Order: sequence, then structure tokens, then C-alpha cells
Amino acid sequence: GSLTEIIDTKQTEKPKKIIPSPSVIKKKLDEYSVGQEEAKKLISVAVYNHYKRAALNNKGPFITPEEISPDIKIDKEIELEKSNVLLVGPTGTGKTLMARTLAELIDVPFAITDATTLTEAGYVGEDVENILLRLLQNASFDKELTEWGIIYVDEIDKVARKSESPSITRDVSGEGVQQALLKILEGTEANVPPKGGRKHPNQKFIRIDTTNILFICGGAFSGLEDVVSARLSEKHMGFGSELIRDKNKDVGEIIKHAESEDLIKYGLIPELMGRMPIIAPFHNLSHDDLVKIMSEPKNAVVKQYQTLFAMEGIKLTITDGALDKISSLTENKSSGARGLRTIIEKVMLDIMYEIPDKKGVKECIINRKVVENNSEPELKIA
Ligand code: ADP
Repeated sequence: GSLTEIIDTKQTEKPKKIIPSPSVIKKKLDEYSVGQEEAKKLISVAVYNHYKRAALNNKGPFITPEEISPDIKIDKEIELEKSNVLLVGPTGTGKTLMARTLAELIDVPFAITDATTLTEAGYVGEDVENILLRLLQNASFDKELTEWGIIYVDEIDKVARKSESPSITRDVSGEGVQQALLKILEGTEANVPPKGGRKHPNQKFIRIDTTNILFICGGAFSGLEDVVSARLSEKHMGFGSELIRDKNKDVGEIIKHAESEDLIKYGLIPELMGRMPIIAPFHNLSHDDLVKIMSEPKNAVVKQYQTLFAMEGIKLTITDGALDKISSLTENKSSGARGLRTIIEKVMLDIMYEIPDKKGVKECIINRKVVENNSEPELKIA
């Protein structure tokens, strides 16, 4: 017998999904993440088109255009090519959050992997097949759903090759991983070991076709702005030199002009870039963005604390002054919005420790001073 026995995963009939329009996707993204308008728009359209491919071919768990309006005529001979997406921008600006939110709102399985932990087959580390296993697990082993899932590959910039010319010796850390990723990005039949790893050599495989899996890759690509502005100043004297002259210009303003050739210069292999025609720029979050992130999104950290306090019968108020101060403290670090949580946790620790034992507290007000000097919050007793 063959080593590769395929497990037959029988599917039951499930209700089909409607693909939300780009504007609906964008609105949903707005509920969970702040700013990044341009990236949101690009991604909304990309995702909408991606899932339309499914409907066109009568494949996947989606309602087809004909099912929505029967008199639509489509030339089914035309093949829509898959467009994976590359998110470019600093750490902690919402790239992972956006990929995750997308998967939730389309209601497809989602898996995250870190490019730096991947290896080409045969080397120590994680095989790319393991990402597919995680996706399969998150789909409760529903093969069809898995094949329409979304995979987020973080830190893709960290496997950039060091020089533009193909390496003579094998570059295990960089190029090999990109080659391995390329294979599943462009579409392959992968044999996924349901128990993972290499520990169970005789296990059966589940065959996953990766053709329709949407890959979203993300990276900070620090220094990419120099590559972009160098190209721009070469090509359009006026514009590029303007960008270079203005040293204080937000890096995000430059990154907005990034094109495939810049990323190839940076060290992504051309074949991989060819599979990611959509480049979505993420910029640094402003002071106001950081304030909004704490209070506005559906899962905003302030709302989470308010819920915790409500369970003690206490109304929690964090004043604008306090949020302003927390935002300023975060701005000085380079972890984007990720730093907010650390600071808030620190501010809240003593309060959270003491408050359940205090009797009759009806309201707790945290103002700027509590954040600044670790002073006591104002407590209102009934
Ligand atoms: P990245 O992937 O860009 O490094 P993440 O998406 O992991 O950043 O962001 C880390 C956390 O910071 C998120 O879970 C979220 O709480 C918060 N965050 C970052 N950017 C945003 C944003 N634009 N809107 C709302 N929250 C954000």
C-alpha cells in the first residue's frame, strides 16, 4: 500500500453563506479597529473578490450570483486569479487584528503562523503543513470549510533574503521558507497529518487543496521607506525628493507608495510577490487613534474593565485625561497599540486588588493623576 492514505472526510449539508459587500466588510472592520482607512478599503475589496471566485465556480460554502438573481449571465470560462494580500506597517498597528476580524465576519476558519518558525521541509522547525493542520482544527476538521479559510503569516519580512541576487548556497532561514510558502500560496494539494508533526509516521493524511485559501502576510518591513523613496526620487524627481527632504514625514506616507519591486528589493522573492498583488499599508497610530482604541472598538479595553467592575456593582469611569496620559506613555514605546494594555494593566492592578473588599462602592473614577502619580482613584460610596 501507499504511505499516503487519504482519509475521506464526508460533509453534511450546511446553509450557504452570503458574501458581504466591500462596504459591509469595511463597516464591520471599523467596529473592531481604528483608523487604517486605506488598508481597510483595499482589504475589503480583495476579500470580497476572493470569495466571489468561490461563488463563480459554484464551489465553497457560498451563495452563487445566480442564486441571488437568476437572470445574471456570467462567462464561466474566465478564471479569476487568487489575490493574496500583503500587510505592510509597524508592529502593533492592527494587522493581525484585521486578518482575524475578516475571518470572523466572513465566518471562515482562521489560523496564524509566524514565518520565522517555519522551515522548508526536512529542516528542524515547523513544516508549512502544520499551518494547514491548525486551520483544519479550527474548522473542526471540515475539509471544505478549511479550503476556504484564511491564514495569516506574520513576520514575513523576517524571512527576506539578505541580498537581491539568488543565493548560491542554500539560505535555510530565508529563501527556503519563502519557497515553501510559495508552494501553498499558489495552490497545492497538501497531505496534512491530522495529528501533526513527525511523531506519528504511519498516520493517515487529510488532503487539503490550498488553491482557495486566502493568505494574508504581514510584516513591519522596517527600512522599506528608504527603498521606496529611493525609487521614487529616481523615477519622478520632484515627488520623491520632496518625500526625502521632509525627514519628519510619517513613514506611513512613504510606505503608501510601496510596490512589488520595492518588496523584492527588500528581499522577498519575485515569485512570492507575484502571488501577493495587493499591498495594504498600515501607518503608525496617532495619539488620538490610541485614545480611541482604548474606548471605542467592540472589545475596547475600557469596556472590558467596565464589565469587570459592573460585575461588582461598580460604575467605572476612566476620564479623558487618564486616557490622554496613557496614550502619551504608549507613544514613547514602539510597540504600537500593544503597549496600551500593559500600561492599563499596571494602573489597574492595585485598584482591582483592593476594590472587591471595599463595601458600598458605587463608582470608581480614574483620572490623569491616577495614571501619572499612581494616586488613589476617586471612590463614590452609596
Ligand atoms: P500587528 O499585527 O500590526 O503587530 P496587532 O493587530 O497584533 O498588531 O495589534 C495588537 C493589539 O493592539 C490588538 O489586539 C488590538 O488590541 C490593538 N490594536 C492595534 N492596532 C489597532 C487598531 N488599528 N485598532 C484597534 N486596536 C488596535
